[in-house]
Amino acid sequence: MILLKDAEALDAKDPLASFRTRFALPQNTIYLDGNSLGVLPKGVTERVAGTIAGEWGQDLIASWNKAGWISLPLAVGDMIAPLIGADAGDVVVGDSTSVNLFKCLSAAFAAQSARPGQNRKVIVSEAENFPTDNYIIQGAAKLLGAEIRYTAPGASPIPLIDGQTAVVLLTHVNYRTAAMYDMAAITKAAHDNGALMIWDLSHSTGAVSLNLKACDVDFAVGCSYKYLNGGPGAPAFTYAPKRIANTLTQPLSGWMGHKNPFAFVLDYEPGDAIKRFLCGTPQVLSLVALQAALALWRDVDMATLRAKSLSLTSLFMDLVAQECGRFGLQIVTPRDPARRGSHVSLRFEHGYQVMRAMADRGVVGDFRAPDLMRFGFTPLYISHAETFEAVQRLKAVLESVAWQNEKYQTRLAVT
Ligand SMILES: *Cc1c(COP(=O)(O)O)cnc(C)c1O
Repeated sequence: MILLKDAEALDAKDPLASFRTRFALPQNTIYLDGNSLGVLPKGVTERVAGTIAGEWGQDLIASWNKAGWISLPLAVGDMIAPLIGADAGDVVVGDSTSVNLFKCLSAAFAAQSARPGQNRKVIVSEAENFPTDNYIIQGAAKLLGAEIRYTAPGASPIPLIDGQTAVVLLTHVNYRTAAMYDMAAITKAAHDNGALMIWDLSHSTGAVSLNLKACDVDFAVGCSYKYLNGGPGAPAFTYAPKRIANTLTQPLSGWMGHKNPFAFVLDYEPGDAIKRFLCGTPQVLSLVALQAALALWRDVDMATLRAKSLSLTSLFMDLVAQECGRFGLQIVTPRDPARRGSHVSLRFEHGYQVMRAMADRGVVGDFRAPDLMRFGFTPLYISHAETFEAVQRLKAVLESVAWQNEKYQTRLAVT
């Protein structure tokens, strides 16, 4: 039997406890949705306000040089690099994850198609991938003349990878179940078959330990508005090591990826390495917000972060089993710590209504159709005691059938 005092004992020896004060947490809310939109870190508001008032308001066009706006995509990329096990100069920030997936996939596929004596037309992904990943694959495949192979739910992608495979594109931590792939093993299987590997790290970055270099990954993309707390619609990152980036080009060959954008010459010539993955003008205000949000990560040890994440998700699953066993919830997140990211999903037929009722009771998670209630555990600002309290409120909602209230029966545009 797990009691509140057990959760409090875990908090008492939590090495990350002090990070909570570095966030502007909403009052009376247990926020379990940092995997969808991270909490506002302190200091971001002032930094963005300063950029607007001084750099934009006063210095105007001079700020591209004077305030370093032009180098923000690479400077912010260098702040993300240590969080994903990448070298400085191999990460760039701009555009969305969807757009960056298109760039990487097209670049990789074109390089593979050009290999003499080979017939590599296949993109391997999974039907359970995040929708935008599959939609981008489908759009790119039409343009590139590629064939798509999807793994069946729960099956390993490795048996699908063969000598016809051009690219393997997978999401490391599944957005629905939090199931996590073995990055090293799958990347190796892709390489053993002559394929290139692209990882989507949207649900991994800032949540689990990553070492792209050690895994010899070719490309990676990911969001910055989830566990990195960059703010709504914050720009995404793209990773490609120099051995890859310097040898291929991507088709969204905008001027910011040019070797010398301000030469204003007729023909495109790709910039060095990851710079060629830029396209148009950087999203300055969003990049400044993200840069300010990333400052606190300098003090975060990723192994410590991962240990706390697993402690929170384990506690939550144990408590759900203990307190809510009789309500017919199914825990779909892997129990094996090596196989899961930093959220927990519970299957329940009336999950949407339950999550709305929970939000009205101060516990914010989200819902993924058709029937998954999703709870994100952000180790920098969530405590074990809050985790305990969240399960108590879940139990109360289920016991009282508060979710049956009429006002929870129609779905809002964003779930
Ligand atoms: C959140 C998420 C995205 C979002 O892509 P956008 O282009 O930012 O909308 C993409 N892929 C995965 C796996 C995600 O979890």
